[in-house]
Amino acid sequence: MFSYAAEFLSLILLVLLIVHYYDPLRIQSPFGRRYWQCLIVTGASMVLNGLCVLTLPYSSEIPLWINMLLNTLYFAASFLMCELFSLYLLEKLMAHTDTPLCLTRARYFIRILYGALFALLFINIPTGVLFFFDEEMHYCRGILNGVGYLQAIIAILLLLVCYCRNRRTVDKGMRRVMRLGVPMVLALITFQQIYPHILLNGTIGVCLAILLFLNFQSEKIDMDPLTGLHNRRSFLAGLEEVMAKKHSVQIVLVSLCHFSAINLAYGYQRGDEILYHIARCLERNFGRKGQVFRFGPVTFLLALPYQGNEEAECNIAVIQQQLSQPWQVGGRLCTVEARVLDLITNGESWTTPWVVECLEYGQVLLKQGQKRYFRFDRAAAAQLRRRRYLTDFIQRAIAEEQFQVWYQPVFCVRTQKFCSAEALVRLQEKDGTFISPMEFVPLSEESGLIDGINHQVMEKVCSFLEKGLPGTLQGVSINLSMNQLSDPRFAQELSDLLKQKNIPVEHLLLEITERMLISEDLSVRENFEQLSKGNFQFFLDDFGTGYSNFSGVLHFPFTTIKLDKSLIQDLDTDQKHRTSVEMLIDMFHRTGFEVVAEGIETGEQAQKLADLGVDFLQGFYYARPMPEDAFIRFMEKNS
Ligand code: C2E
Ligand code: CA
Ligand code: CA
Repeated sequence: MFSYAAEFLSLILLVLLIVHYYDPLRIQSPFGRRYWQCLIVTGASMVLNGLCVLTLPYSSEIPLWINMLLNTLYFAASFLMCELFSLYLLEKLMAHTDTPLCLTRARYFIRILYGALFALLFINIPTGVLFFFDEEMHYCRGILNGVGYLQAIIAILLLLVCYCRNRRTVDKGMRRVMRLGVPMVLALITFQQIYPHILLNGTIGVCLAILLFLNFQSEKIDMDPLTGLHNRRSFLAGLEEVMAKKHSVQIVLVSLCHFSAINLAYGYQRGDEILYHIARCLERNFGRKGQVFRFGPVTFLLALPYQGNEEAECNIAVIQQQLSQPWQVGGRLCTVEARVLDLITNGESWTTPWVVECLEYGQVLLKQGQKRYFRFDRAAAAQLRRRRYLTDFIQRAIAEEQFQVWYQPVFCVRTQKFCSAEALVRLQEKDGTFISPMEFVPLSEESGLIDGINHQVMEKVCSFLEKGLPGTLQGVSINLSMNQLSDPRFAQELSDLLKQKNIPVEHLLLEITERMLISEDLSVRENFEQLSKGNFQFFLDDFGTGYSNFSGVLHFPFTTIKLDKSLIQDLDTDQKHRTSVEMLIDMFHRTGFEVVAEGIETGEQAQKLADLGVDFLQGFYYARPMPEDAFIRFMEKNS
């Protein structure tokens, strides 16, 4: 019995750990599940070991098959325990690696290794290589009795190799486990070999389980300490399970607005207090029906079973009503604006990554819009799919240099000739349809892909300008994006590029939208100053689209203003409009700017604007944007 003392104490610890750890939500996550398996199998192995030890003195009185069965089960549980711990550690070690193949191979290796051990268990029955019972029914160790330890050492070596190969992606917890766990297990195995009568198998498992618990599985990882709710990580882990079962769920995301203003006004402790009360309120109302998570610093998430639209709407109404109440903070009442995103996953096509993407995108839409409630419906999902498709398409198009530059001629009223052109980027799908730059340019700006497009546009425009200007053409304007202007190296790089290609600065005109003028970025102003010192000309694009701010125009070195097509289109119908455009043109002329009118679609519009004194006209009436060779032919014909 003395030999089982360590195992007995460890078993008590293990039971405590199992009771403490059990949480249905927690054991749904892949790592939670694996850890739970480790605990249960370790427990089973220790109980079986206990039974074997207990029955040992009476082995001669017990039928041989029971003795064999008990010991075989014990061996099987011990092997499985080692296998599960090895798999847990391997998966944890390589959770963030970008070579999933490595993990797959290591998993196979472990499975084969332990598969061989299980095969040995079968062979043991006729051969007794692991253990056997002699004629007097005494338990005897076979020649391969210690093979399990050898396998454990091989698994440790494999772990060490994987650890060294993935050093960069391994987190602190894993480092600690490797530094403490490996020597600890090796020391215990050595001790076991020196003193084989003291049983330590389960103890090794329990020590490892405690170490893993402290580093990876303790509450703080899945729970939010402030509100006591499960956190984002826990939600994502549970979601995996729900999606696999194809259950329908209503996911409601509650985002608190302007919360930093509350922290500033009342202090962050009071802010924390409000968060705590909101958490309790949501839990009180929905804790039984579903689960409440703290999804982000000021975002809560509710996962509720979906039982029809009526109930789903009722849930939203309760949330909105509950969250519109004022909260008590330090004796005062304070209201917090909450925006609600509602997402219902019913159908086969929902997967965890897709739900996460929908939630991310839904939050963006929620922030952009003015509404306090947003249902993530089919239209939003279609929009998201389109964005995803486009992002992939743009990435490929950048890599394969698929972007084209087309040119739209600009007509000069004074000389009655085409004197410049605007370079416009074009992206064509395989079936020949064009994707509008209005769609892919903003998306590329948001997703950080715009640099790749700008680079190709600049290359193409420069190679066009390098060949010299056809006919009466005096320059080509390009549309700059915010990324370019806020890059501190932009002015220098552009000047160097033109110098290197021998292109006169006057041949390249730069169009900037008003949106860029309101940027606080110092680099924008510096680029502006450096480029205008270098004699570059700036056009203010899209004047009249909502950002219009005359002081912005005066404070930046523009030479030309481009009136947006929305101003031109209303010209025919509205007298007030006509007068204001006339005054605008007059004001710009008096302050020394030239004026381009964009979007001229009819001869009447062209005539009216020429009468109002506009200097240049651009639009479908004169010519649509066209590819480079067609544009050269156009210029030669119309000069
Ligand atoms: P934008 O700079 O205002 O360019 C003028 C847009 O008006 C072009 O649309 C042009 O095809 C269109 N347009 C020209 N004449 C008419 C007309 O008579 N009627 C109407 N309805 N439209 C006319 P496009 O090429 O689709 O470009 C849309 C926007 O995409 C551009 O507006 C610009 O903001 C952006 N963009 C285009 N190319 C580039 C580029 O190379 N870089 C960057 N950053 N943005 C670009
Ligand atoms: Ca433009
Ligand atoms: Ca424009």
